[in-house]
Amino acid sequence: YVMSSGSYDYFQFVQQWPPTNCRVRMKRPCSNPRPLQYFTIHGLWPSNFSNPTKPSNCNGTKFDARKVYPEMRSDLKISWPDVESGNDTKFWEDEWNKHGTCSEQTLNQFQYFERSHEMWMSYNITEILKNASIVPHPAKTWTYSDIVSPIKAATGRTPLLRCKYDNNTQLLHEVVFCYGYKAIKQIDCNRPGCKNKIDIKFQ
Ligand code: 5GP
Ligand code: 5GP
Repeated sequence: YVMSSGSYDYFQFVQQWPPTNCRVRMKRPCSNPRPLQYFTIHGLWPSNFSNPTKPSNCNGTKFDARKVYPEMRSDLKISWPDVESGNDTKFWEDEWNKHGTCSEQTLNQFQYFERSHEMWMSYNITEILKNASIVPHPAKTWTYSDIVSPIKAATGRTPLLRCKYDNNTQLLHEVVFCYGYKAIKQIDCNRPGCKNKIDIKFQ
Protein backbone atom coordinates (compact mmCIF):
# COMPACT_ATOMS: atom_id res chain seq x y z
CA TYR A 1 0.00 0.00 0.00
CA VAL A 2 1.61 3.24 -1.14
CA MET A 3 0.47 6.54 0.30
CA SER A 4 -0.43 9.06 -2.36
CA SER A 5 0.81 12.59 -1.93
CA GLY A 6 -2.63 13.74 -0.95
CA SER A 7 -3.32 11.28 1.84
CA TYR A 8 -3.95 12.59 5.32
CA ASP A 9 -5.08 11.36 8.74
CA TYR A 10 -7.13 14.20 10.17
CA PHE A 11 -8.00 17.86 9.78
CA GLN A 12 -6.76 20.91 11.58
CA PHE A 13 -9.27 23.73 11.50
CA VAL A 14 -7.27 26.88 12.15
CA GLN A 15 -8.74 30.14 13.36
CA GLN A 16 -6.64 33.24 13.78
CA TRP A 17 -6.75 36.36 15.93
CA PRO A 18 -6.47 39.09 13.26
CA PRO A 19 -4.68 41.75 15.37
CA THR A 20 -1.82 39.35 16.13
CA ASN A 21 -1.55 38.24 12.52
CA CYS A 22 -1.19 41.81 11.25
CA ARG A 23 1.04 42.96 14.04
CA VAL A 24 3.55 40.19 13.53
CA ARG A 25 3.35 39.68 9.78
CA MET A 26 2.70 43.22 8.60
CA LYS A 27 4.17 45.17 11.55
CA ARG A 28 1.07 47.27 11.72
CA PRO A 29 -2.55 46.93 12.77
CA CYS A 30 -5.00 45.30 10.41
CA SER A 31 -6.72 48.05 8.51
CA ASN A 32 -8.36 46.49 5.55
CA PRO A 33 -11.26 46.30 5.48
CA ARG A 34 -11.52 46.90 9.24
CA PRO A 35 -9.74 45.92 12.41
CA LEU A 36 -11.60 42.75 13.32
CA GLN A 37 -11.86 41.75 16.97
CA TYR A 38 -13.05 38.18 16.53
CA PHE A 39 -11.39 34.92 15.54
CA THR A 40 -11.56 34.33 11.81
CA ILE A 41 -10.76 31.29 9.69
CA HIS A 42 -7.21 30.83 8.47
CA GLY A 43 -7.76 27.46 6.88
CA LEU A 44 -8.83 23.84 7.04
CA TRP A 45 -5.69 21.76 6.80
CA PRO A 46 -5.67 18.03 6.11
CA SER A 47 -2.69 16.78 8.11
CA ASN A 48 -0.70 13.69 8.94
CA PHE A 49 -0.02 12.50 12.48
CA SER A 50 3.58 11.66 11.63
CA ASN A 51 4.42 14.67 9.46
CA PRO A 52 2.04 17.40 10.52
CA THR A 53 2.87 20.02 7.93
CA LYS A 54 2.06 17.58 5.15
CA PRO A 55 0.33 17.11 2.79
CA SER A 56 0.14 20.38 0.89
CA ASN A 57 -0.25 21.63 -2.67
CA CYS A 58 -1.76 18.41 -3.98
CA ASN A 59 -2.59 17.78 -7.57
CA GLY A 60 -6.24 18.59 -7.34
CA THR A 61 -9.00 20.59 -8.88
CA LYS A 62 -8.03 24.19 -9.56
CA PHE A 63 -9.80 26.84 -7.54
CA ASP A 64 -13.01 27.97 -9.18
CA ALA A 65 -14.57 31.00 -7.51
CA ARG A 66 -17.93 30.09 -9.01
CA LYS A 67 -18.04 27.05 -6.77
CA VAL A 68 -18.16 29.22 -3.67
CA TYR A 69 -20.45 31.81 -5.26
CA PRO A 70 -22.99 33.00 -4.60
CA GLU A 71 -24.28 30.86 -1.74
CA MET A 72 -21.21 30.96 0.42
CA ARG A 73 -19.71 34.28 -0.48
CA SER A 74 -21.47 36.53 2.01
CA ASP A 75 -20.96 34.03 4.85
CA LEU A 76 -17.28 33.56 4.09
CA LYS A 77 -16.68 37.28 3.96
CA ILE A 78 -17.53 37.29 7.66
CA SER A 79 -15.96 34.01 8.78
CA TRP A 80 -12.96 33.85 6.41
CA PRO A 81 -11.83 37.37 5.48
CA ASP A 82 -8.39 38.25 4.22
CA VAL A 83 -7.45 40.34 7.23
CA GLU A 84 -4.26 41.61 5.62
CA SER A 85 -5.35 43.14 2.35
CA GLY A 86 -9.07 42.57 2.05
CA ASN A 87 -8.59 40.33 -0.99
CA ASP A 88 -10.84 37.58 0.34
CA THR A 89 -11.22 35.57 -2.85
CA LYS A 90 -7.47 35.44 -3.33
CA PHE A 91 -7.00 34.19 0.25
CA TRP A 92 -9.61 31.44 -0.32
CA GLU A 93 -7.86 30.50 -3.53
CA ASP A 94 -4.46 30.26 -1.80
CA GLU A 95 -5.88 28.10 0.99
CA TRP A 96 -7.76 25.87 -1.41
CA ASN A 97 -4.68 25.35 -3.57
CA LYS A 98 -2.35 24.70 -0.66
CA HIS A 99 -4.64 22.68 1.60
CA GLY A 100 -8.05 22.03 0.08
CA THR A 101 -6.62 20.19 -2.89
CA CYS A 102 -5.30 17.55 -0.47
CA SER A 103 -8.73 16.76 0.97
CA GLU A 104 -10.69 16.12 -2.18
CA GLN A 105 -11.20 12.46 -1.42
CA THR A 106 -13.51 13.73 1.34
CA LEU A 107 -14.58 17.26 0.47
CA ASN A 108 -15.16 18.78 -2.90
CA GLN A 109 -14.51 22.49 -3.26
CA PHE A 110 -17.99 23.58 -2.31
CA GLN A 111 -18.00 21.26 0.70
CA TYR A 112 -14.54 22.40 1.77
CA PHE A 113 -15.76 25.96 2.20
CA GLU A 114 -19.20 25.03 3.49
CA ARG A 115 -17.77 22.71 6.13
CA SER A 116 -15.21 25.31 7.22
CA HIS A 117 -17.92 27.88 7.72
CA GLU A 118 -19.98 25.36 9.72
CA MET A 119 -16.99 24.64 11.94
CA TRP A 120 -16.54 28.36 12.52
CA MET A 121 -20.24 28.68 13.38
CA SER A 122 -20.24 25.75 15.77
CA TYR A 123 -18.18 27.44 18.51
CA ASN A 124 -17.49 31.11 19.04
CA ILE A 125 -13.98 31.18 20.47
CA THR A 126 -14.10 34.92 21.05
CA GLU A 127 -17.20 34.48 23.25
CA ILE A 128 -15.83 31.43 25.04
CA LEU A 129 -12.71 33.34 26.03
CA LYS A 130 -14.65 36.46 26.96
CA ASN A 131 -16.87 34.43 29.29
CA ALA A 132 -13.67 33.25 30.98
CA SER A 133 -12.52 36.89 31.30
CA ILE A 134 -9.88 36.38 28.63
CA VAL A 135 -10.07 39.53 26.55
CA PRO A 136 -7.37 41.47 24.70
CA HIS A 137 -5.15 43.37 27.06
CA PRO A 138 -1.83 45.15 26.49
CA ALA A 139 -0.05 43.77 29.55
CA LYS A 140 -1.91 40.87 31.09
CA THR A 141 -0.60 37.35 30.59
CA TRP A 142 -2.15 33.91 30.74
CA THR A 143 -0.76 30.42 30.94
CA TYR A 144 -1.35 27.91 28.16
CA SER A 145 -3.86 26.05 30.30
CA ASP A 146 -5.69 29.25 31.32
CA ILE A 147 -6.62 29.66 27.66
CA VAL A 148 -7.09 26.02 26.72
CA SER A 149 -9.32 25.15 29.68
CA PRO A 150 -12.43 27.18 28.83
CA ILE A 151 -12.23 26.13 25.18
CA LYS A 152 -11.88 22.50 26.17
CA ALA A 153 -14.79 22.84 28.58
CA ALA A 154 -17.00 24.30 25.85
CA THR A 155 -16.09 21.89 23.07
CA GLY A 156 -15.25 18.73 24.99
CA ARG A 157 -12.04 18.39 22.99
CA THR A 158 -8.50 19.63 23.44
CA PRO A 159 -7.67 22.49 21.08
CA LEU A 160 -4.19 23.53 20.07
CA LEU A 161 -2.89 27.05 20.61
CA ARG A 162 -0.43 28.50 18.13
CA CYS A 163 1.63 31.57 18.98
CA LYS A 164 3.73 34.18 17.23
CA TYR A 165 6.78 35.75 18.77
CA ASP A 166 7.36 39.47 19.01
CA ASN A 167 10.79 40.02 20.61
CA ASN A 168 10.52 37.75 23.63
CA THR A 169 6.79 37.99 23.92
CA GLN A 170 4.58 35.04 23.12
CA LEU A 171 1.36 36.20 21.49
CA LEU A 172 -1.72 34.08 20.98
CA HIS A 173 -2.19 33.86 17.24
CA GLU A 174 -4.31 30.83 16.42
CA VAL A 175 -6.66 28.32 17.96
CA VAL A 176 -6.86 24.95 16.22
CA PHE A 177 -9.69 22.44 16.41
CA CYS A 178 -8.96 18.94 15.17
CA TYR A 179 -11.39 16.75 13.26
CA GLY A 180 -11.34 13.17 12.07
CA TYR A 181 -10.80 12.01 8.52
CA LYS A 182 -14.28 12.93 7.34
CA ALA A 183 -14.18 16.41 8.88
CA ILE A 184 -17.28 15.66 10.94
CA LYS A 185 -16.22 14.45 14.36
CA GLN A 186 -14.07 16.72 16.50
CA ILE A 187 -11.10 14.98 18.13
CA ASP A 188 -8.39 16.05 20.58
CA CYS A 189 -5.44 17.86 19.05
CA ASN A 190 -2.13 16.54 20.21
CA ARG A 191 0.70 18.29 18.50
CA PRO A 192 2.87 20.90 20.19
CA GLY A 193 1.74 24.50 20.01
CA CYS A 194 2.71 27.58 22.03
CA LYS A 195 5.47 27.00 24.58
CA ASN A 196 3.55 26.11 27.67
CA LYS A 197 6.26 27.21 30.09
CA ILE A 198 6.07 30.81 28.85
CA ASP A 199 3.18 33.14 29.60
CA ILE A 200 0.97 34.14 26.71
CA LYS A 201 -0.26 37.61 25.83
CA PHE A 202 -3.54 38.17 24.05
CA GLN A 203 -3.58 41.59 22.44
P1 5GP B 1 3.60 28.43 10.56
O1 5GP B 1 4.83 29.16 10.20
O2 5GP B 1 2.42 29.33 10.81
O3 5GP B 1 3.74 27.42 11.64
O4 5GP B 1 3.19 27.55 9.29
C1 5GP B 1 3.29 28.05 8.00
C2 5GP B 1 2.44 27.22 7.09
O5 5GP B 1 2.80 25.84 7.16
C3 5GP B 1 0.97 27.24 7.48
O6 5GP B 1 0.33 28.35 7.00
C4 5GP B 1 0.49 25.97 6.86
O7 5GP B 1 0.27 26.12 5.51
C5 5GP B 1 1.64 25.04 7.06
N1 5GP B 1 1.45 24.27 8.28
C6 5GP B 1 1.92 24.54 9.51
N2 5GP B 1 1.51 23.62 10.39
C7 5GP B 1 0.75 22.74 9.68
C8 5GP B 1 0.05 21.57 10.02
O8 5GP B 1 0.02 21.12 11.15
N3 5GP B 1 -0.63 20.93 9.01
C9 5GP B 1 -0.62 21.37 7.74
N4 5GP B 1 -1.29 20.70 6.81
N5 5GP B 1 0.05 22.48 7.38
C10 5GP B 1 0.69 23.15 8.34
P1 5GP C 1 -0.51 28.55 5.36
O1 5GP C 1 0.62 28.64 4.36
O2 5GP C 1 -1.46 27.67 5.02
O3 5GP C 1 -1.95 28.47 4.92
O4 5GP C 1 -0.82 30.07 5.45
C1 5GP C 1 0.26 30.92 5.70
C2 5GP C 1 -0.05 32.09 4.97
O5 5GP C 1 -1.39 32.47 5.29
C3 5GP C 1 0.82 33.22 5.37
O6 5GP C 1 1.97 33.22 4.58
C4 5GP C 1 -0.09 34.38 5.07
O7 5GP C 1 0.22 34.87 3.80
C5 5GP C 1 -1.44 33.77 4.99
N1 5GP C 1 -2.39 34.43 5.82
C6 5GP C 1 -2.81 34.36 7.08
N2 5GP C 1 -3.82 35.18 7.31
C7 5GP C 1 -4.04 35.76 6.12
C8 5GP C 1 -4.94 36.69 5.67
O8 5GP C 1 -5.81 37.18 6.39
N3 5GP C 1 -4.84 37.02 4.38
C9 5GP C 1 -3.91 36.48 3.53
N4 5GP C 1 -3.87 36.84 2.25
N5 5GP C 1 -3.06 35.60 3.92
C10 5GP C 1 -3.13 35.27 5.21
